[in-house]
Amino acid sequence: MPRLKVSRSALHGRGVYAAEEIGKGVKVIEYVGKRVSAREAERVAEEQLCRSSKSGTGAVYLFTINKKYDIDGNVPWNKARLINHSCDPNCEAQNIRGHIWIVSKRKIKTGEELTYNYGFGMDSWQDHKCRCGSPKCLGYIVAASSRGALSRVLKRRRV
Ligand SMILES: [Zn+2]
Repeated sequence: MPRLKVSRSALHGRGVYAAEEIGKGVKVIEYVGKRVSAREAERVAEEQLCRSSKSGTGAVYLFTINKKYDIDGNVPWNKARLINHSCDPNCEAQNIRGHIWIVSKRKIKTGEELTYNYGFGMDSWQDHKCRCGSPKCLGYIVAASSRGALSRVLKRRRV
């Protein structure tokens, strides 16, 4: 795995940076955490969502592994939880045989901040404001697959 470093981020709080050049398609870091049942995950999500709407930032640390289990990554030993969201990210989260990996989508230069799309659904988009600063930013954090739907909603509101 490539060397990484944690430091203050221009995007939000702390961030994770490449300490060496990373090629495309590399498993950069595993997103680790506590295994929770799907039912427990619903409760945890509710709690994290509540806290994040108060602070105005996206902070839900759950990844679905399969129908039965989720990973709750809100634990101190999960360095990947510090990776920020971007609407134009250089990494993506992949479920590889039951493990969540942050995988590079393109070549990443030394010193570049790692980002991935947090992939939130459309049901709570208003709770997750985005300030990633990318030209593709919609102002809210949603999954790549929901970007079209959200931009239509936002367009309608502006009219
Ligand atoms: Zn954004």
